[in-house]
Parts: sequence; C-alpha cells; structure tokens
Amino acid sequence: MATHTGGLTAEHPADTGTGTAPGTVRITDLVRSFGDRNVLDGLDLAVGAGEFVALLGRSGSGKSTLLRALAGLDHDVTGSGELSSPEPVSVVFQDARLLPWKRVLDNVVLGLDGPDAVGRGRAALAEVGLAGREKAWPVELSGGEQQRVSLARSLVREPGLLLADEPFGALDALTRIRMHVLLRRLCARHRPAVLLVTHDVDEAIVLADRVVVLDEGRIGADIPVELPAPRGHGSAEYAALRERL
Ligand code: ADP
Ligand code: MG
Repeated sequence: MATHTGGLTAEHPADTGTGTAPGTVRITDLVRSFGDRNVLDGLDLAVGAGEFVALLGRSGSGKSTLLRALAGLDHDVTGSGELSSPEPVSVVFQDARLLPWKRVLDNVVLGLDGPDAVGRGRAALAEVGLAGREKAWPVELSGGEQQRVSLARSLVREPGLLLADEPFGALDALTRIRMHVLLRRLCARHRPAVLLVTHDVDEAIVLADRVVVLDEGRIGADIPVELPAPRGHGSAEYAALRERL
C-alpha cells in the first residue's frame, strides 16, 4: 500500500523498489508548514526494526506533528522525500483515550479480527498486569491502569511501529517508574520500532537505545544511549526492589 501526501510519497514495506529494509522507519526531507512557518523543515530520520528512539524537543518544536505524519494522520505534509514505516502503526497518547461506554476488554479488542481476538485481548491485559479487570469500566481505573489498557490495546495489534506521545506525562512519579519497567519489558518481548516523545530527559535515557532532539524543524542531535550495566529504572534489580515497596 502506498499513500500519496502532497508531493511526498508514503510507502510501506510491502512495496518494493524504494530500497527500504522491512521493519524500518525512513523519513527524508519531510516538510510540514502551518501558514508560512515550516514546523518540520526538511527533516531526516531513520529508525531500525526493534529500535527504541526517544524524541526530545522544546514545546512547539513539532514532535506531535512528526508523530501524526508517521501515524498517517496528516495528509498535508509535503517535501520531495520519503515517509515509510512498518505496519501496523499503533499510537499511545498522554490520555489513554479509552471509550468510556465500553468495558476494558472491549476497548482492547475493538476492531480486531479473528476468532482468537478475545483470547489475545485477555493475554494482552494479563501482560500489562490487568488480568481480572476485563469487565471493568474505564472510569473505574486509575490513570496508570488506563494507560496500561492503552498499551495493551496497542500491542495486541502487533505493531511494527509504536508511537507514543508523552504517554506517561500525566502520571505520578512512582506510577511513571512502574510504567517504564513495563514498557521496557513489553518492547523487549514484542520488538516494535518505537518513537517515544517525552519532555523528561531521564525518561529518554532510561528507556531508549537512542535519543534524538528536534530543533528548528530538523533533528539537531542524535545520541546513542550506551550505558554499562545500568542501575537505572530499567534494570532487573531496580524492578525487583520496586516490587517490594
Ligand atoms: P510539540 O508536540 O513539539 O509541542 P506540535 O507538533 O504540537 O509541537 O506543534 C508544533 C508547532 O506547530 C506549534 O507551533 C503549533 O502551534 C503548530 N501547529 C501544530 N498543529 C497545528 C495546526 N493544526 N494548525 C496550526 N498550527 C499548528
Ligand atoms: Mg506535543
């Protein structure tokens, strides 16, 4: 499937002839303007299969705009380059965006095909630590639990690319740390490419293989995270300690 967005072609890995390896995000010369301002101004970025990239940048720098383009939600991007991403794409937002009139399990499996959809939905809920809450209404859950449901809903679709726009920004510090541990475990198991927007430099370092910074409509810094034997949030020792508190 290929979609055409202005002068820019969005292609997916099923297409051949672009030279894009399967399971990779490839963006070249992406432009998005509002009025006479180019919020994205010839942006280039590649994310490998299974790679976890954190995206930093000051407020208004275009992080959400970039994610919307990658999610295929923006039909007004221009530029001469390429915009390709592995399918399917799942998106997690700061607010879980659950349908309040549907129970938790129904939110997770909404739109899923196949006779095993319910079973997969139950398994996904168990993976995020919500076994037994299938019949709860979203309003009965805490913010952190709602965000776990949102993660289950995303991962049950087996995304090639997971986009997350400040997913833990509204959570308290302890819940955020628990979510870091959970997200790392889920990503290690499912191996989607991840592009996670955050304001929090520590969150970026703890979670990501690579941190990129959006500046003036382009990638201003691109830094691999190489830490010896991390003792941060992501380590097994840290998780075990946290479970005892
Ligand atoms: P970030 O997520 O980095 O905070 P955004 O991508 O939301 O930034 O927005 C980048 C810039 O684009 C901002 O200046 C914002 O006002 C502008 N912008 C985003 N969406 C629209 C829109 N639909 N109409 C006009 N301007 C927009
Ligand atoms: Mg934003």
